[in-house]
Amino acid sequence: MLGASIAYHLARRGARVTVLEKERPAAGTTSKSFAWINATFSKEPRAYFNLNMQGIAHWHRLEEELAGDLQVDWSGAVEWHAPGEAAETLRRLARRHQEWGHASTASEGTAATEELAGQLPEVTPGDVQIAAYSSQEGAVDAVRAVEVLLRHARRYGANVIYPSQVSALQLENGQVRHVVTQNGQLDCDALVVACGVGTPAVAAMAGVNVPLKEAPGVLIHTTPLPPLTKPVTLAPRAHFRQYADGRIVAGVDFGGTEVPDATFDYGTELMARAAEYLPALPAGSLATVSRGQRVMPLDEYPIVGFAAACPNLYVAAMHSGITLAALMGHSATMEILEGVRLDYLEPYRLERFS
Ligand SMILES: Cc1cc2nc3c(=O)[nH]c(=O)nc-3n(C[C@H](O)[C@H](O)[C@H](O)COP(=O)(O)OP(=O)(O)OC[C@H]3O[C@@H](n4cnc5c(N)ncnc54)[C@H](O)[C@@H]3O)c2cc1C
Repeated sequence: MLGASIAYHLARRGARVTVLEKERPAAGTTSKSFAWINATFSKEPRAYFNLNMQGIAHWHRLEEELAGDLQVDWSGAVEWHAPGEAAETLRRLARRHQEWGHASTASEGTAATEELAGQLPEVTPGDVQIAAYSSQEGAVDAVRAVEVLLRHARRYGANVIYPSQVSALQLENGQVRHVVTQNGQLDCDALVVACGVGTPAVAAMAGVNVPLKEAPGVLIHTTPLPPLTKPVTLAPRAHFRQYADGRIVAGVDFGGTEVPDATFDYGTELMARAAEYLPALPAGSLATVSRGQRVMPLDEYPIVGFAAACPNLYVAAMHSGITLAALMGHSATMEILEGVRLDYLEPYRLERFS
């Protein structure tokens, strides 16, 4: 997602761009993502919340630029909890986010149950203490969005090559000058490394250390179903949303517990959890179970910008890479072509780890 967005933005500004992808577009984490575009309650501190809000704004800008091709679903997001610690946390975080300018509303007790009945008529929420509705949020079919971005990148002259694995980088005077792939060698003025969990291996070819940590997540996808749910739904024991084509994607927050393998049995268990809230979800509609690796920097915040150790190598590695993709496409292009350092990216430079 990040590579496709940066390639599109660079090509649109007239740069000569070559995209090298070792498998096929969106083969990595992007195809295993929940793809919720959000700035909700875990997004802190304030600067990181702001970055995600900018991320949302740039999806709108990009949608307009591509004349509706991206088909982002802006139905918002709903979260709720029964009485207890989780409800108290949501109350506190929703309040703080409202103070930061997040367009969310929180309701309690009967009002919360009524809010859920209005937003999610097909959902049986169980016991409800608090519900929060975030109207500015959305979701996208990330695999489709990558196809759209690469199609438009090509329209502006980008060359998209796959399968083409970067296997070595050749440096001159401390800068990358040649990129070696199984299809031969390319010259470059600058190299953007947006290889997801493969970023550390590619950056290391130029002596640049990008520290990521393990952060897997399991999701299930169903076959296309009739409309069951509109906003992104964050129920206490399962998260789910429905694509425009009718497929439902669902997952859970493992909250630090061990993440299981993507077996069909585990997928069936996850389906049952989602069906607690969506009784109309047919058990036989389970289509795929996937285990994705989040692109998770050591301190969980984005890594973006030119590397001091190799000044023409630009790194873009981050979690919430769907939310931030449109913003990062714009931002990387500004930094690479205009030569500016964007102040809102300063907290996210690679050098913070050195
Ligand atoms: C379960 C789960 C749920 C998530 N939910 C959300 C969410 O709701 N909202 C959100 O914003 N984010 C979410 N994320 C995170 C988001 O999906 C990622 O941040 C984003 O997809 C990362 O995109 P990327 O382009 O950096 O990486 P990738 O999609 O992995 O792309 C990197 C590409 O580089 C290629 N590559 C690797 N090495 C090489 C090489 N040597 N040569 C050539 N090509 C190479 C790979 O094949 C791959 O296609 C979620 C992630 C997971 C796992």
